[in-house]
Amino acid sequence: MSKLQFDFEIIHRINESRYIKKEEILELAKNAPKEIIFDVASNLRDEKKGKRISFSKKAFFNIINLCRDTCSYCTYKAEPNDTKLSLMNKQTVKELAILAKKYNCTEALFVTGERPEQKYPEVKRWLKNEGFSSTSEYLIHCSEIVLNEGIFPHTNAGNLTKNEMRELQKTNVSMGVMLESSSQRLREKGMPHEDAPSKDPSARLGILKNSGELKMPMTTGILIGIGENLEECIQSILDIKEIHDKYGNIQEIILQNFHPKPKTSMFEHSTPEEDYFKTVVALCRIIMPDANIQIPPNLSPENYHEFLSVGINDWGGISPITSDYVNPEFSWPNIQNVEKKCNDSGFSFKARFPVYPEFISLVNNDLKQRISLIANEENYVKESYWK
Ligand code: SF4
Repeated sequence: MSKLQFDFEIIHRINESRYIKKEEILELAKNAPKEIIFDVASNLRDEKKGKRISFSKKAFFNIINLCRDTCSYCTYKAEPNDTKLSLMNKQTVKELAILAKKYNCTEALFVTGERPEQKYPEVKRWLKNEGFSSTSEYLIHCSEIVLNEGIFPHTNAGNLTKNEMRELQKTNVSMGVMLESSSQRLREKGMPHEDAPSKDPSARLGILKNSGELKMPMTTGILIGIGENLEECIQSILDIKEIHDKYGNIQEIILQNFHPKPKTSMFEHSTPEEDYFKTVVALCRIIMPDANIQIPPNLSPENYHEFLSVGINDWGGISPITSDYVNPEFSWPNIQNVEKKCNDSGFSFKARFPVYPEFISLVNNDLKQRISLIANEENYVKESYWK
């Protein structure tokens, strides 16, 4: 059988929406010409999502940037004496929410390090002064603050317990935790997650499973180019798919390309080749044809068209008012410029809420009503889509 015949057989199965085995995906990745993989992914996106690319207009709330863990690529994490240390008090949270509302943002992205109070007595003391005993308790309170200002919290605070997530579910329309990779190898000595027990694949997959049991719309994703190989990327996507197939709550998959950061042990490590990154994006679309797949636009600023042509349908959160504190060296693009580039490539470009329309049925009635009110506000209607 020639390679080309083989590829077309797989494409035929994809078009018939039949289950694809890992071995078949690996065969496709290894043997099919890349152009065919990219074309299949692009056609699947067109068929399942149309020619519309979404984004979430957000403000990044850098709540507490100390962290119990150490990932060898991370510059988000601060130390107590760093100038970049962030401990956002309640008043600052409220002020940023008011500003975000002025800019027509709908998402308050809450980010913290992993349980910072377990490592740093300074954080424990600060939380106590604010009136809280843990970061998660504080996040629950901050979620209420921003919701009252008309902004929807989307919390990304690492490995929260199921009870903590259950509390946050009252105010958060969705939450996020990156799987990063389901490769256990990346936790070995000298590998990026050696000193990050929270990134153990079984721990992260456990969080995603808990979110499924809670029926919480969940954003997750993988970090590409940190020492994994293509087979491990495929396995990570298949693991996410397995959770989604069982619980139906994975609303979005972020595919993030690694960039080396100064003053980290991975500074000498290179970014993934564009072709490798595009292959992962395309395979993700082929493995999960209905998924919302995003890449961060600030990490690939020069070549939007390249990624639109391999199956993405979302640019994720873009902030008109705050930095990307995880990747501070990459500023957010101007929203009008992103729109123009999408239009030039034949796509419309529309804002969405931090919960995708097809997952709104999972959120509670209070949040549904709040979303419905804002969805009908004049400013929102102009720049959004909502079904
Ligand atoms: S990536 Fe997250 S878990 Fe890892 S060190 Fe940074 S803040 Fe902590």
